[in-house]
Amino acid sequence: MNPATCPVWIGGEWSRLSDLATTPVHNPSTGDVIAETPLCTAKHVDDAVEAAAAAFPAWWETPPTDRARILFRFKTLLEENFDDLVRSNTREHGKTIVESRGDVKRGIEMVEFACGVPSLLMGEALENIARGIDCETIRQPLGVCAGITPFNFPAMVPLWMYPVAIACGNTFVLKPSEKVPLTAIKVAELLEKAGLPKGVLNLVHGGRDCVDALLKHPKVKAVSFVGSTPIARYIYETGTRHGKRVQANGGAKNFILLMPDAEVDNSVRGVIEAAFGCAGERCMAGSTAVVVGKAARSVLPSLVEAARRIKVGPTDREAQPDMGPVITRQHRDRVAELIGIGAKEGAKIAADGRQVKVDAAPNGFFLGATVLDEVQTGMTVAREEIFGPVLNVMRMEDLDAAIELANRSPYGNGASIFTCSGKAAREFKHRIRCGMVGINVGVPASMAWFPFNGWNESFFGDLHMQGKEGVQFFTQLKVTMSRWFSYGEGDVWYRETS
Ligand code: NAD
Repeated sequence: MNPATCPVWIGGEWSRLSDLATTPVHNPSTGDVIAETPLCTAKHVDDAVEAAAAAFPAWWETPPTDRARILFRFKTLLEENFDDLVRSNTREHGKTIVESRGDVKRGIEMVEFACGVPSLLMGEALENIARGIDCETIRQPLGVCAGITPFNFPAMVPLWMYPVAIACGNTFVLKPSEKVPLTAIKVAELLEKAGLPKGVLNLVHGGRDCVDALLKHPKVKAVSFVGSTPIARYIYETGTRHGKRVQANGGAKNFILLMPDAEVDNSVRGVIEAAFGCAGERCMAGSTAVVVGKAARSVLPSLVEAARRIKVGPTDREAQPDMGPVITRQHRDRVAELIGIGAKEGAKIAADGRQVKVDAAPNGFFLGATVLDEVQTGMTVAREEIFGPVLNVMRMEDLDAAIELANRSPYGNGASIFTCSGKAAREFKHRIRCGMVGINVGVPASMAWFPFNGWNESFFGDLHMQGKEGVQFFTQLKVTMSRWFSYGEGDVWYRETS
């Protein structure tokens, strides 16, 4: 049987578009094609934007408390369907069940945050800014907003965007990654079940054509994007050129400093989880370990040993491996190629994942945990975001040199330090040039109530996703000044009674 083509959701109607080109969705554990993603055209995007525009006036007039009540029901449905969402996430992405639980859970936290929208939307007021004149601010929605998401967090990243956007009174068009559309569809079905009015959220699928149509559509007021840096830059430049507010999260290369006084077991566990969790396919992956001074002797050998012990295998069955496959065959081959390039350019392969064989799933997209030691700044593997299970190791003499190395990176998502020294940790926190800092924490990815805070080429825009910045992004302030000269109709009553 041919795998089903994913439906679009436009104006409250689910439909499977025929006669469209499609692209396959794989189960990376087996290599099987499990669905086809239709490549929507500008016409479908226009239909979705028009549906969102038509739904906007009534949704904006819906009291924030009522909008929040729908989100409370949505949260309950997400929890009731948690296991199903986790399985779907693992099936189309390949991450382990434990990792998928984290993915869905972080998404639910965004809905919890958005449920607080009546408080989050409150403005400010000051009376008597001049005698008898009062001033107040209120937050109003923008209109139709759009979201474009990557493959690596099928549940969480779409939920970074539309719960907050719609809670604030906007309507929304989501284009999930064409590689992982299935979980996004399931989540949207639950929002429909929670009672969301037709057209408030719409779902289209596809690649560049679809994205370009969203970026240029005159009725789209704001665009949220998460993906690689070259596309994030393109989205920011094109979207802003077309008059839209844009927040665009890009790629990263995150440094983890291992100081000579770092606790060995805790820091090895932290680096292994940061480098190889989700098979390294995380924008917050700790992809470079900087071993400082004697840490090369005290920590590095245990780190390499731990990487070699990581068991790789299919994640779509009961027995779970330590690490799952990467997203596609092409990506697996590219990461393997980069490991080879690293070796050719002078890195030492301390653990080699290229030869891994998984008998239980011979067609899965597997690659073992790889450690490249003695990586130097100019090497291809030091410059490119590998986005796979590869840990670069760089050696530095002292904290100053390590911070300087990390600060030369064009990216700026996260950086961590493992140390027992408060002074070293404080220096690091103060001087490191990136937006999310970990102190004895390998993956300092901020949660829903705080901004997801990329800097430099990891973020294009002014207001980040998550937290209060997310609310600011999806609203515009209105300032009202008021003065009253008489009591109007109440004048007579007022004069008689006072
Ligand atoms: P990607 O940039 O290839 O794709 C992201 C989205 O952009 C997809 O929806 C895709 O359809 C669309 N797209 C792809 N090429 C396009 C083009 N030429 N024009 C217009 N749209 C296009 O990213 P990916 O491979 O899906 O995801 C991995 C990347 O995302 C990594 O670089 C990772 O670091 C990054 N990421 C960043 C964050 C963050 O918050 N900074 C979070 C998750 C992932």
